[in-house]
Amino acid sequence: MVHLFDQELEDRLIRYATIDSQSDEASKSSPSSEIQLDILRLLEDELVGIGAKDVRLTEYGVVLATIPGTVDGPTVGLLAHVDTAPQFNATDVKPRVIRGYNGGDITFPDAPELVLSPEEYPYLAEKVGQDIITASGTTLLGADDKAGIAIIMTAVRHLLNHPEISHPTLRIAFTPDEEIGRGVTEPLPGDLAADFAYTFDGAAVGEIEYESFSADSAEINIMGISIHPGLAKGKMVNALHLASKIITTLPQATMTPESTEKREGFIHATQMHGDAAAMTIKLILRDFEREALTAKGDLLQQVCLAVQATEPRAKIKCTIRPQYRNMRYWLETDMRPVDLAREAAIKLGIEPVSVPIRGGTDGSILTEMGIPTPNIFTGMQNIHGPLEWISVQDMAKATKLCLTLAELAAKPTN
Ligand SMILES: [Zn+2]
Repeated sequence: MVHLFDQELEDRLIRYATIDSQSDEASKSSPSSEIQLDILRLLEDELVGIGAKDVRLTEYGVVLATIPGTVDGPTVGLLAHVDTAPQFNATDVKPRVIRGYNGGDITFPDAPELVLSPEEYPYLAEKVGQDIITASGTTLLGADDKAGIAIIMTAVRHLLNHPEISHPTLRIAFTPDEEIGRGVTEPLPGDLAADFAYTFDGAAVGEIEYESFSADSAEINIMGISIHPGLAKGKMVNALHLASKIITTLPQATMTPESTEKREGFIHATQMHGDAAAMTIKLILRDFEREALTAKGDLLQQVCLAVQATEPRAKIKCTIRPQYRNMRYWLETDMRPVDLAREAAIKLGIEPVSVPIRGGTDGSILTEMGIPTPNIFTGMQNIHGPLEWISVQDMAKATKLCLTLAELAAKPTN
């Protein structure tokens, strides 16, 4: 019983991780990269193969499917994203399994200088004797979020093979482009048609997350005045100088990602490009509270106004756009999905932990759009880089949690 799902999870994660499905922030299409269709089509076939119903790949790049309920109850959505992070090489991923991990340093065949050490990553030290999957050193692994896909596929295959297990109708959605914040598009909530849902996109065993950042993006456009430098006296306005003034006026020792943690928010300058005539600065704003997020936007506007005041001939415009909101605002009014996940964890002897996510998930947007969607652990660690790893046994715990959740959801609430 203990090892019931290990082999299937390992096989699935390796199969999915080998397929390059990196999303592309620069692309305007949906999905953002054509290659994501490779894994989406594979999952479509696999879902048909295990007997799921209503399987389809939507024109917006989401694979949807139904696992018909064996009893009445709320319709529960299960989500994972197929794309991998654009931040690190994701081409030619070569997963390998370290069976019965011995507790020592892990080295990588394709990057001899790279070391994954349990001293630096204490969670790894807890995994002695387990089966650890990593990439080969030159790529990310993509357990984020192919572990989530492997977990959902393994759980629903089990349910389809065991019609005697009571569970309500489950709806599956494998989404593209989560890593670039475009996983949930307008038609998805209606097409998913779930009462509530879960993303399997969390890290350490026990994590049941229902708080994410609230997020805005900002773009500052600076128009200077361009003229031949030989004739520029008293006429030229150099946009580069103004851009650098804005950057140096913004907080640097506080309120940046590198100087904040836990519940603190930040303003993060992500890009600056242009020339003496015109410059663009891109930033992201993050906070757990709406008011504090608004205050960060106001601060940014004030800095722009102050720099504008030093040079009235320039044109400085700062545009702030909402990205997603803390899912807690909606979930705290209906904690049933969170309580159900916690109950399932406790039933399995797993201690539930709810830490605010310093980021967003597909669930942040889905929750705002009307489907409450907390996030559940998968076991993934050190994501978005070459040291990414996951324990097969952690994935098995998430699979059991998924199954227990489904069983508990079938019971009437009182
Ligand atoms: Zn993810």
